[in-house]
Amino acid sequence: MLQQKKLEGKVAIITGGASGIGKATACVFADHGARMVVIADIQDELGEQVAASVGSQGQNCRYFRCDVTDEEQVKGLVEWTVQNYGQLDIMFSNAGIVRSKKSNSNSNSIQNVLDLDMAGFDHVFAVNVRGMAACVKHAARAMVEQRVRGSIICTASVAASTGGSTDTDYHMSKHAVVGLVRSASHQLGVHGIRVNSVSPFVVEMTALWHHMTGTEGELPGEVCNPETRLKGVVLNVKHVADAVLFLASQDSEVVTGHDLVVDGGCLLK
Ligand code: NAD
Repeated sequence: MLQQKKLEGKVAIITGGASGIGKATACVFADHGARMVVIADIQDELGEQVAASVGSQGQNCRYFRCDVTDEEQVKGLVEWTVQNYGQLDIMFSNAGIVRSKKSNSNSNSIQNVLDLDMAGFDHVFAVNVRGMAACVKHAARAMVEQRVRGSIICTASVAASTGGSTDTDYHMSKHAVVGLVRSASHQLGVHGIRVNSVSPFVVEMTALWHHMTGTEGELPGEVCNPETRLKGVVLNVKHVADAVLFLASQDSEVVTGHDLVVDGGCLLK
């Protein structure tokens, strides 16, 4: 039993909530007393399963199908949430892909900028950048309209502050997320709305990680994440979810425009 519930009575949306970091965050939000957590995703079966398993027997979690690449669907998601649960306090814009299935080349092949696939590039940007921007826009509109001093959190990545030998489009897209957060936090502070991002290092055992590495099943942490500088600490989705909880709750009342890196020190020079 948690001693202090940090999101008592809050209504939250989590995009990409059917899997990985989003799913773990839905559990943490529900454990911290969120009145309703709306999981938005394109994986219907998984999303329904997760919603039924989160919190008190699924009473405070719902699945809503929403493809974030379609602005009308994002608008519909926010409107549905406000109509059904009264308001929106927290938007965790987290849905993301590392490589596109729409790519003309083999999605698991290692690509660098010399053979950058532009169809794949467009899809990565449609989800990771355009989708994030639509979520921030429509969440902020609802918060402004209802005078809610809300919290918006986007999932960036350590790829937002590094380059890479592969996945140029992914790195570019995550740099753009930080730009979105910096601009939106600047503009929305006047309404009391905070906007931050969380930047995980490689978190093992999410679907995204398996897609990136072409692996299946569980891998020992040290295989996935050899560079963590904290002895004995292997990053997992709960570490990221706890960082998101901090940004969503009053514990971070004066934190806005910040990119919170969750990397076990791997970016330290
Ligand atoms: P994941 O694949 O487990 O979860 C991503 C979810 O997003 C999936 O449920 C997927 O269905 C959903 N999604 C994909 N496209 C969508 C769309 N168009 N509309 C709505 N939902 C969509 O991956 P994850 O590791 O949990 O990734 C979550 C976020 O974390 C992503 O933004 C990713 O870039 C970021 N990230 C992950 C890692 C890592 O190591 N796993 C590291 C840094 C950043």
